[in-house]
Amino acid sequence: MQIARTLSELQSILPPWHQRKTKTALIATMGALHAGHLSLIHTARKQQAEYIITSIFVNPTQFAPNEDFANYPRQEQQDITALQSANIDLLYIPTQNEIYSPDFGTAIKMHSYVAQGLCATTRPHFFDGVALIVTKLLLQTMPHIAIFGEKDYQQLLVIKRLVADLDIPVKIVGSPIIREPDGLALSSRNQYLSTSERNIAPQLYSTLKQAARQLEAPKQPIEQIINAAKQKILAAGFGSVDYIELRKAHDLYPVTADTPSCSARLLAAAYIGKTRLIDNVALKWKGYNNG
Ligand code: AMP
Repeated sequence: MQIARTLSELQSILPPWHQRKTKTALIATMGALHAGHLSLIHTARKQQAEYIITSIFVNPTQFAPNEDFANYPRQEQQDITALQSANIDLLYIPTQNEIYSPDFGTAIKMHSYVAQGLCATTRPHFFDGVALIVTKLLLQTMPHIAIFGEKDYQQLLVIKRLVADLDIPVKIVGSPIIREPDGLALSSRNQYLSTSERNIAPQLYSTLKQAARQLEAPKQPIEQIINAAKQKILAAGFGSVDYIELRKAHDLYPVTADTPSCSARLLAAAYIGKTRLIDNVALKWKGYNNG
C-alpha cells in the first residue's frame, strides 16, 4: 500500500488516469476505521475495482463550530494497519492545508430536495461541506466508481445528486449497513459512548426495525407508529430524537397514506448524552389495506 500526503504525491502515484484502463475505486472516510468502512472495500472489489484508493480526512467544512471536529477520533497508525491488511493500493491522507489552502474561497450549495430536512434540519451546514470535500476528492483521484455507505443514506443520495448535477464522471455505489451483533450500526462516534450508553444504543435499530414491520402492514396512521417509536427510544434512555421519518428510498419524498407502493426508508437521528447516532431501515411501503 502506498501512502500519499499531498496532491502532487497522489498524482505521481495514480495510474495514468487518462488511459483509464484500470477500474479505480475511491472510498472516502474520516478515519477511525471500523468494519463498516472495510466493508466498502469489499463492495469495491465486488464491483471489479482493480485499484482501490481510500482517503482519510476529517473535513472541517462539514462540522459546525459547536460540533465535535476537535474531538473527532483520530487514530492514523491503527487505520494504516487496517488498510494494509485489507490490501488496498493507495491511502490518501492529506493535511488540512493541502485540501483547503489559506486562500481557498469556493463553496458548494446543495439546493436539491434530497439535501433538505432530515439531517439538514439540525445540521444545515453539513451537506454543503460534504459536497465540497467529495467533489475535491473525486477530482483529485478521478476514480471510475466511489463507494458510500447506506448508513448515511441521505448523504448517499446527496452525493448521487451532486455528481449528476456537476457531470462528474464517476459511478456512485451504495453499500449496506454493517452492524454490531446487537444491531447497533458501526460508527466512529460509537467510541464516545459510555458503557451504559452503549447498552442503550442498540434500541435505536431494534425500535426502527419494529416500526418498519408495522409500517409494512399498517394498522394505525403513519404518524402514530412513528410517534410510538419516538417514545420508545426516549423511554430506553436516549436524551432526544432529532427525527424519525418515513421517506421514499429513491428521492426521499415523504411517504404518506396515499403514496403508491414503493421502496421506502425509515430514517432516524437521536442523541444519547452528547453523542448523535443515525440509522435507517429499508422497507416496502404497500399502503393501507394491502397486507
Ligand atoms: P465516515 O468515516 O463516517 O465519514 O464514513 C465513511 C464512509 O463509510 C461513508 O460512506 C459511510 O456511509 C460509510 N460507513 C460508515 N459506517 C458504516 C456502516 N456501519 N456500514 C456501512 N458503511 C458505513
